[in-house]
Amino acid sequence: MSEQPIKKVSVVIPVYNEQESLPELVRRTTTACATLSQAYEIVLVDDGSSDSSAEMLTAMAEEPGSHVVAVLLNRNYGQHSAIMAGFSHVSGDLIITLDADLQNPPEEIPRLVEKAEEGYDVVGTVRQNRQDSWFRKKASRMINHLIQRATGKAMGDYGCMLRAYRRHIIEAMLHCHERSTFIPILANTFARRAIEIPVLHAEREFGDSKYSLMRLINLMYDLVTCLTTTPLRMLSVVGSLIALAGFAFSLLLILLRLFFGPAWAADGVFMLFAVLFIFIGAQFVGMGLLGEYIGRIYNDVRARPRYFIQRVINSSFTGSSEDDKK
Ligand code: UDP
Ligand code: MG
Repeated sequence: MSEQPIKKVSVVIPVYNEQESLPELVRRTTTACATLSQAYEIVLVDDGSSDSSAEMLTAMAEEPGSHVVAVLLNRNYGQHSAIMAGFSHVSGDLIITLDADLQNPPEEIPRLVEKAEEGYDVVGTVRQNRQDSWFRKKASRMINHLIQRATGKAMGDYGCMLRAYRRHIIEAMLHCHERSTFIPILANTFARRAIEIPVLHAEREFGDSKYSLMRLINLMYDLVTCLTTTPLRMLSVVGSLIALAGFAFSLLLILLRLFFGPAWAADGVFMLFAVLFIFIGAQFVGMGLLGEYIGRIYNDVRARPRYFIQRVINSSFTGSSEDDKK
């Protein structure tokens, strides 16, 4: 399918206490975008910073002829919520996300645009020479591996936020009203053609990572729940297996008791175990069943659009039912 041409590029950057890197960030991003043949805007979302980031953004956006759009949130909502807020204010056909800490070099933007123009919905990136702590790298690799297992899609690096999305992907994401999201994964569920390109990765120049261990763990849960309800399903699979084993074992104990007599079964102790196994098994079956229901409730509550129409060609349909927007 031929893609629509890209007329305008929007760069969305979440900012949380990044006053030291802001000037250089905007300078380098502007320089990179100026080499594009398309129009561009830089949407900076202040995620409730407590330093002077918000004031700096306001000043930048108010300069005459500025390409900066400042979106200020009233408190800290987290990186992915901030990016979503930025998405709701973009006007471009291709949207690029970037971190404010200059770990993703803005100089890669033209390459992403070029790739997207070849007809990709999503252009992801893989960080070459990743400059993060050993622990972060290992944890990240493990999670990436799990995701690939779960989705069957070979995406090398979900943690890297330097990514480009076509407008229709963004619109589909804005229709997802769940509270916690992990944007690269959500985008991939809507992408028809995705590709990854290698990009450079730099060390954080100013300040520290805004993610503490606790927030990283939270993020991991967001990622997993955004992706799938498989863990709940696993509960019922593993639960059933344990239940079966428990039942079988208790049966065996009862049979052996009948065969070898009460002395073999330690005068009733083994029978107690048999009864225990049966109850444990029943509990796991119950939990698995609950898990199945919870998974369904979760899917319905988050009410993602069932499908998303990208384009309709030559239709004489004029009704305006709710369905045609979904
Ligand atoms: N960020 C944000 N809100 C937060 C935490 C982080 O908007 O609550 C932004 C932050 O300003 C940066 C990006 O998210 O632009 C990535 O954060 P960071 O570099 O600290 O994460 P890391 O590189 O350690 O994954
Ligand atoms: Mg960073």
